[in-house]
Amino acid sequence: MAKIEIDLYSDTQTRPSAGMRDAMAQAEVGDEQRDEDPSTNRLCDMAAEMLGKEAAVFMPSGTMCNQIAILVHCRPGDEIIADKTAHIINSEGGGPAVFSGTSIRPVDGVRGIFTADQAAAAIRKPRRHAPRSRMIEIEQTANSGGGTIWPLETVRAVGAVARDNGMILHMDGARLPNAVVASGVSASEFAEPFDSLWIDLSKGLGCPVGAVLAGDADFIAQAWQWKQRMGGAMRQSGVIAAAGIYALENNVNRMAEDHANARLFAEGVANLPGVVVDMDSVQSNMVFFDVSGTGMTAADVHERLLQHGVRIGENDRYRMRVVTHLDVTRDQVATAAEAVRKVVLENAAVTA
Ligand SMILES: *Cc1c(COP(=O)(O)O)cnc(C)c1O
Repeated sequence: MAKIEIDLYSDTQTRPSAGMRDAMAQAEVGDEQRDEDPSTNRLCDMAAEMLGKEAAVFMPSGTMCNQIAILVHCRPGDEIIADKTAHIINSEGGGPAVFSGTSIRPVDGVRGIFTADQAAAAIRKPRRHAPRSRMIEIEQTANSGGGTIWPLETVRAVGAVARDNGMILHMDGARLPNAVVASGVSASEFAEPFDSLWIDLSKGLGCPVGAVLAGDADFIAQAWQWKQRMGGAMRQSGVIAAAGIYALENNVNRMAEDHANARLFAEGVANLPGVVVDMDSVQSNMVFFDVSGTGMTAADVHERLLQHGVRIGENDRYRMRVVTHLDVTRDQVATAAEAVRKVVLENAAVTA
């Protein structure tokens, strides 16, 4: 296999930068399980403040944040309302069924985003036969929706539905910082209606590991107990928390470049024969495009791009996903779009 020179597979492909590694090397550390790690404590304080919540807890991953939030809020037999594309439905190994005994009612949103009316319609009347509707979950940005941004009004309207029905509102904020930078709405404004939410440090923020879950003090106390119980409690975690502090201080505003690069890529491939890009969905650092009209599957295009040193994810049979991030430059993104052009036109020439 040719060497991957331009990796647009995911924003998880970032490597810690020299500055970040330096911050990690200098980190003050202690025993995190005893609340004695100063760097982890500082990261949690920063995240809680940024999100406008009372408290926060450092977690090994975003998946653990989602699963623990569900465990705290829900009981076996409860039901969660989420978009059909949600990460908790498609990419967490059936965790809600396994850990908390909950089921998820998928909503047929548009580009990963549903309306307050759809949320209200998905809530079940209390009946002996029905699961209890307990939580509404949204993803900001909506990953499989195309990296789309939940508008603040929609977030507030869905939040009002949750509140009026005595339900919990939870945000999978894996890419909330992207939504903040792209929309100009602050993280705390987006976070305000939520009982719990988290941000990922290992996506566009460029850290090697970690996520931070926030909520009120009682929620965080319960989340901490689940973290301990599941073996997620750490020791000198300041070494990795320092990467998170560095990222919050240095890697947020620069995401505007990733968003401009995603747009550049989308425009570069939009007019290729057989390629369809939903330009309205290009709102942050992702570009989904359909290659069914090229005579190739996504796997074919993926393979051929590797010969050009470019890696682009195959999302399903004909759908591909590009994710821009801090380890790919504007020139590299332009080169990747050019590689897609070559692959598509070469194949068209051969099959003509
Ligand atoms: C990546 C991702 C997660 C899971 O985060 P990890 O840190 O990889 O466990 C959850 N939700 C969304 C939308 C994601 O993109």
